[in-house]
Amino acid sequence: MKKKINRIFESDSIEDIEDKVEDLLDRWDFEKINASINYLSDCKKTILHLLLFDHTIYNLGHQDYYTDGYACGGLSFTKPDSENYIFHNSLLYGLYENFDSIEEFKPLIEILEKFRIDVDGSQRETKECENCNGVGTNTIYNYDNSEFEEEECTVCGGEGETMENNTDSGGVLNAEELNILDSNYCSIRTNIISRIVKILVDLYNSTSNVVEGL
Ligand SMILES: [Zn+2]
Repeated sequence: MKKKINRIFESDSIEDIEDKVEDLLDRWDFEKINASINYLSDCKKTILHLLLFDHTIYNLGHQDYYTDGYACGGLSFTKPDSENYIFHNSLLYGLYENFDSIEEFKPLIEILEKFRIDVDGSQRETKECENCNGVGTNTIYNYDNSEFEEEECTVCGGEGETMENNTDSGGVLNAEELNILDSNYCSIRTNIISRIVKILVDLYNSTSNVVEGL
């Protein structure tokens, strides 16, 4: 176990750590990533999640972080969903839980808290209702009078169609807001990375594993 942990955290250069992050990025599915690092403590997981976040924001920015599915948990496995930021929320929660007292992370937490996506309502598209196959009603058996009856579909309300966000088109309305988050992150990135390196070096050097903020 100790050996495994050290294998990820032994790196003393940011380039080595970035290689590990690249490796995790290859299996970009939040569940798969977590499965491959499930032997790590929550603190260490959060650090790796933070490095994945950094890599994605630094190379793509917040808008692609959303439209490519990263914020929601993984490429092609999870369709972007403006209501459900699984990865993003988990990172934020991990920082609250494990690194609340670290000064350098406070502006980062602010940026993470501000992240939200406005999806263009006009880019919502209608889809045939899966509950009633587009008919608008479902046939149910009424035990009281022993007859089959047509009941209005409870999913589409009888319309036969449901509205869904057309996520393929992006349809992100608040791009400017997201650009501001990008530049805010870039302006604190050096501080964040050097703090992460310090945490990793402390972790590696510490025999007791008692590290400030951990
Ligand atoms: Zn229906």
